[in-house]
Order: sequence, then C-alpha cells, then structure tokens
Amino acid sequence: MTTIMIALAQFEREQISERTREKMAWRAGKGLPIGPPPIGYEMHEKRFRPVPKEVEWVRFFDATYLETRSLNKVVKLAYQRGIRSRKGRTLTKDAVSRILRNPVYVGLISYNGDTFKASHEPIREQAIYTRILQSLERNNHRNGNGKSRAKQYDYLLQGLILCGYCKGKMVPRTSMGRGGRPYHYYICSRADKTAGLDCNQNYLEATEADRHVLGYVKQLALRDDLVRKLCENRDASFAESLRTLREERDQVKERLIENRRQATNLVKMMTRMENEPPDAMLHQSQEFEREKTELEATLSRMGEEISKLEQTSMRVDMASKTLRYLAGILDHSRVTADHLKDCLPKFINYVMWRKEAKAHTGRFEVALFERPFRVDQGRLLREVVENLAAGPNGNGQKSLESHTPRQNGAACCPTRAGCAGGYDMG
Ligand SMILES: [Zn+2]
Repeated sequence: MTTIMIALAQFEREQISERTREKMAWRAGKGLPIGPPPIGYEMHEKRFRPVPKEVEWVRFFDATYLETRSLNKVVKLAYQRGIRSRKGRTLTKDAVSRILRNPVYVGLISYNGDTFKASHEPIREQAIYTRILQSLERNNHRNGNGKSRAKQYDYLLQGLILCGYCKGKMVPRTSMGRGGRPYHYYICSRADKTAGLDCNQNYLEATEADRHVLGYVKQLALRDDLVRKLCENRDASFAESLRTLREERDQVKERLIENRRQATNLVKMMTRMENEPPDAMLHQSQEFEREKTELEATLSRMGEEISKLEQTSMRVDMASKTLRYLAGILDHSRVTADHLKDCLPKFINYVMWRKEAKAHTGRFEVALFERPFRVDQGRLLREVVENLAAGPNGNGQKSLESHTPRQNGAACCPTRAGCAGGYDMG
C-alpha cells in the first residue's frame, strides 16, 4: 500500500514539474516574464512594468559602468546615491553584474538557452547593452577568471582564515599586479563583494600569511613551556565550566526527586478519596508529569554537555606531542600543499587577521586545538605520515614514528593561542 502511495506521489510530482516546465516554456514563447521582476520592474497584470525610480537606477549603473569600467566603482557610487537592494542591503558586485548582463532590460526573455522577444517595455538600448557586454568580457579576460587563476597558488589558510572585523570568512583572490605578475591574497568576503562598503578592506598577501602561520606553528612546537602554559590556561577555564555544569545538574536532579515525591503523594491522596478527585488535583497531577518530562530532558542535555567537556581531555604531553608531530610534517621534504591543507585544520581552529587601516600592518590571532580530533575528520594524520614515510626506499618512517600521537578522540588539547605581536605585511 505504502509503495503504491509513494509511487503515486512521485508520479504526481513529475507531472507537476512537467506541467510547470511546459507552462514556463509557453510563457517565454509568448514573451511573458518568468520569475520575479529584477530591479527596474514590478509585476503588473502578469507582466513586468517599469518602475520609474528603479529605471533611473538601472540607467545609472549602465552609464557609470561604461564610464568607469569598474564594478567596484559602480557599487560604491550607487551606495553613495542611496541605492540599496529590495531588502535594504548594500548591492554587491555580483548583483550589479547580474543587472548589467540581464537581457530583460533590452526587452528579451531568456529561457533554457533561448531568447524570446518580451511583452514588456525595454529600458536599456541594445547599443548600450552590446557595449556593456563587450566591456565586461574584456575585463573578465584581463583579470582572469578568479577561480581558475586562484588554483595557480595553493592557499593553505583557505577555510581557516577569518576577518578580524566582521568575523566572516576571508576568501582567496588573485589579481594581476604590475608587469603581469599574479598577486595572491586573502580578502574579507563581505568587503570583497561590496567593494569595502559592508566591511573594512581587510586583506593580506597569501604567501606571507601562509608562511607566517606555518612559522608560528613550528616555533610553538619548539616551546614546550609555552604549550604547557596554553594548555594549563585552557584546562583551568574548562575545569571551571565543568564544575558549574555539574552543580547545575545536581540542582536539576534534586528538583526531579522532589517532583516525584510530590507526585506520588498526590496520587496516594487521590486513591484514598471516596469521590472523584476534583479537577484541580487532576490538573496538578498533569502539571507534575509535564515538569518531570522537562526536567528529564534538561538532565539528558546537561549530561551530554558534561561528557563532551570531559572527553576533550586536555593533556599537556599530548598537546606538545601533536605540535611536534605537525612540525615534523611541515618540515618533511616530501610534504605537498595538499598534505598541509589536510593537516592544518586538525591543529588550527582558525586564524584571524585584522589589518590596520591605511597601513601595511595588522594583527594575527591563531586559535589552536579548539576542536577535538575526530575519527571521521577525513583523512587521518597517520595516513598522511604513512604516505610521506612510504617513500621509494621507505626512509623517513623512523623519524616520524618517534612522535606519532594516538589517533583517537582523546588525542587532543583544546587550547587557544593568541599569536602575539604585530606583523608586517612587507
Ligand atoms: Zn570583514
């Protein structure tokens, strides 16, 4: 029975999507819009109708882009004019680029790779559209497709580096410097999208950043005393949270015992009564049951939290071992960028960068071992080591074995290291 119902539901879904596709194709063929109107238009009797104020915006984007040939500048100038997205947000470069490329404005509807003459009024001249597309194409060519070019350099801190201002991700970018030399850097994603309007222009040369963080980890590996201190600090704060949590759990337990005692008394009372117990009593009994369920849920949640804290055992010896181990990997002659990208997230929780405004300096913060090692964390470190060690003549095995930590959940020391001092971007 269930099978048939599922099959029917599936059939119905396919029918619906088939009907939707047919309908969309029919609409496109008739020059009727598909989807919501972009900036510049509104819906009116199932067609797009120009919105005078937004039409002005679109013309402003067109003119400004053709004048400056820079999406960055369009985004900034539009912001200054008070132009925002429909949700009131800063328009991003992507959004402006989509507007500039959208054939809807020259009175076309595109569907499934085909374009149809639209039934709505165009608000951009074809000649202007052609010039915009040519310019976008040229710029794209000159700057290169960021993604394909970014592959020329292995950004080791990709996914680990955060913006010190908005705490958002920093993303790798490549641009062409003078003399056609590529310049690799990390930039705050938010700043990048909005030409620095929604966050500071927080960026950093990638090669410098990668070298600096690797150097920092290596240095730390040589400083047992420092690692010890970091672990002890972390231990103390973990122990404090554990103590508080355990106290809270004991209170909940006591309350649960009291709840059971009162509920039992109430039931005894009710069974001793000759008549039906009054509503108030029944109600109270239900209340006790409700509270019991709640308390039990709280108790199990707290239990989970406590065991999580207990598992992140903070052993100083293990911490320095793992750090030395990482240093061993970093220094290995056969280590590749892929190895490093695999290993680093297991030691470094995040790296935060905060560039000083109008200066080539900034501050790094490196957080280590915030997350415990997990067995399911992709390729294990041991594998990396074995791969490295299994060289053509198998040497290297011994030197790495000497500081191989256990690969289980316990091999972890949650600790946070503030990387001290300023850093010159050069
Ligand atoms: Zn930011």
